[in-house]
This record gives sequence, structure tokens and C-alpha cells, in this order.
Amino acid sequence: MSNNIWVFIQQDDGKIADVSLQLVSKATDLARDYNNKTGEAVQVEALLFGENIKEMAAEPVKYGADRVFCVDDSRLKYYTPVPYTKVLVDLIKKENPQIILYGATTTGRDLGPRVASSLKVGLTADCTDLQIGDYESKGETYSNILYQIRPAFGGNIVATIVSPEKKPQMATVREGVMKLNEPDLSRKGEIVNVPSIVEDADCLTEIIERVQQDKAVNLTASQIIVAGGMGVGTKEGFDIIADFAKTIGADLAASRAAVDAGFIHKDHQVGQTGVTVRPKLYIACGISGAIQHRAGMDQSAKIIAINNDPDAPIFQIAHYGIVGEINDVIPKLKKAFKAK
Ligand code: FAD
Repeated sequence: MSNNIWVFIQQDDGKIADVSLQLVSKATDLARDYNNKTGEAVQVEALLFGENIKEMAAEPVKYGADRVFCVDDSRLKYYTPVPYTKVLVDLIKKENPQIILYGATTTGRDLGPRVASSLKVGLTADCTDLQIGDYESKGETYSNILYQIRPAFGGNIVATIVSPEKKPQMATVREGVMKLNEPDLSRKGEIVNVPSIVEDADCLTEIIERVQQDKAVNLTASQIIVAGGMGVGTKEGFDIIADFAKTIGADLAASRAAVDAGFIHKDHQVGQTGVTVRPKLYIACGISGAIQHRAGMDQSAKIIAINNDPDAPIFQIAHYGIVGEINDVIPKLKKAFKAK
């Protein structure tokens, strides 16, 4: 068993998913942490499958991967379950990594469990944080243990999960929760071309057509977000929030209650069952600050909360708080911004 941390790199049509590079960045931090704690070297290795992927292979290296295993095969051009699982399971058996990380995307959520069940190992889904260290249980010390952290019981507790006995330890990680390293263009890594073991008989899925789903908004890369909750009151009330967001160059987000009330499309929902964001500025308007909402935004660099209840939980995490009515505060903020 190696000490290495693997990251499955998701690529779609020649573009690597942001979450994969976020995970390479996180794996690099974990490897450094473990090395500092124990003196043991841990390498970060990326897995890239697809067709004509040579150019893409340099990308994970810039974010911290020491080695990229590439399997180039036209039958791996798009994700399909059987060939991807077969190739990955085979590589795991040969290389014995300690940890494997996947983005909690549709692909990662499909592939991770298939690999886990093939290898009879565990998988923690939808992690929001990861740590690494040794773990002691019943007089035994286990090394290189991944602490897999995620909300549980409807978001009411944050659970830390370890699986010390079964290796590799595997987790899917939510998009947007891990910070992206600054790319180092001068970094050099090893590219390992692995022959494909896919056979035509493995290709049980035929892709007839790929249709791009239009997303109302992609908040994961937003730098400034104005978010509205039930305190906004009505769908029309959201127009005021939307107008304010536009004025200050922000993207528009919402709590789940606001989405459920039909004020705005679900693509705008931030939180445990929405997207996770980490903008430079998050302005929460009429949002109480339930734990499930906070799970998606509490990593924002600066949080401003506007709420008419001085005891609203959102004020516990806000850097600046305004106690007041939305309809009163927002026009004043807009006016002040325009006057600048
Ligand atoms: P409320 O809790 O009703 O809060 C409205 C706030 O607005 C109050 O604080 C009130 O004081 C204030 N207010 C009212 N009128 C005004 C006014 N005129 N001016 C100023 N302030 C005013 N929630 C999410 O957001 N995202 C998720 O992903 C999510 N996932 C969930 C998953 C599970 C399994 C569960 C159980 C719940 C989830 N929730 C999620 C729901 C969450 O628990 C809360 O119910 C929700 O976040 C509340 O939304 P809200 O703050 O807009 O509404």
C-alpha cells in the first residue's frame, strides 16, 4: 500500500471540472500536513481518462499533482459507468493508493460507489472538509487516515468519519468547498501513459446525443453574491434584490425556503442541498441563517447580513450586520453605492 493520495480528474469535452482541480489543491495540502506531522512523504496523483487528453494532463500538475496517470481511449471520451469503473479499479489494484477523492458531481457520485462496491471498501459522500492524521482505536494506531467531514442528520450535526481498516479510503467532495491553489506554471510532474484495458464488450452504454443543460446561474465562481430569503417576502420583492445585485455587479442567490416558495429558480439555491459558494462578499437579505444555509456560504470572505430580527442566527457568522427592514435598507444601500 502506497501513501499516495489520488484525485479522479473529471473532464467533459476537453475541459477539466473545477472541482477536480480544487481537490488536487486540497490533496496537496493534505500531503504537506501529513509530511509535517510524521515526516513521511505523500505524493498526489491524478487520474485522467478520455480521448486525446495529452494536453489536459499538464493541468493537474500546475495545481500540485506529482504524477498523472492517463488512459487515452476513444471509448473513454465521455463518462460511462462500466469502462471507467473497470479502468479505475484495475489501476487501484496495481498501484494501491491510500486515499481517493472524487468531486461530488453526477459523475463522481456514480463512479465512486461503483468503485467502492467493486473493492468492498467504504465511501463517504458529499464531504465538506477533509483532514489527515493518524488514528487510534482499541490500542491500534492507524496511519495516513483521512478524516472525512460532512453534515449529517439533516445538517444538524457535522460528522467526522474515518475508515481505518479498509483501503483505499474514498470520499466524494462537494463542489466549491475546497480552495483552488494558485497555479504554478513552472511545476513539473510525471505523466504516466497507462494502456487501456477497455474492451468493446464493456461499452454497454451508447451515447446518442449530448444536450447541454442551460443553468440559470453558476454561483460557484461568483465573487460577489446578494442572496435573498423568506424575509424578502414575495417574488416581486426579489426584483428589488435582483436590481440591487445588478447595481453592485453581484450574482443573485437564495435560501431554500425562498426557492421552495417559488421566488426564484433552484439553480440559485445556496446551502446543503444547493451549491456551496465562497465569494469575496456575501450579502444575506432576510435569511435567518439556518445551519443548512450556512453550510453553503460560511466560507465567504466577508458576510453582510440584513435582517429585522437582531437575534437571527445569521448575525453569529456575519462580519457586518444591519438590523432593519429589507425594503428600507436595500434602497439606501443602492443609493449609497451609486453615490460613490
Ligand atoms: P426563514 O428561516 O423563514 O428566515 C427568514 C428571515 O427573514 C428571518 O430571520 C426573519 O427575521 C427575516 N425577515 C423577515 N421579514 C423581514 C424583513 N421585512 N426584513 C428583513 N428581514 C426579515 N436551506 C437553505 O437555504 N439551503 C439549503 O441547501 C437547505 N437544505 C436543507 C436540507 C435539509 C435536509 C433540511 C432539513 C433543510 C434545508 N434547508 C436549506 C432549509 C433550512 O433549514 C431553512 O428552513 C431555510 O434556510 C430558511 O430559509 P430563510 O432563512 O430564507 O427563511
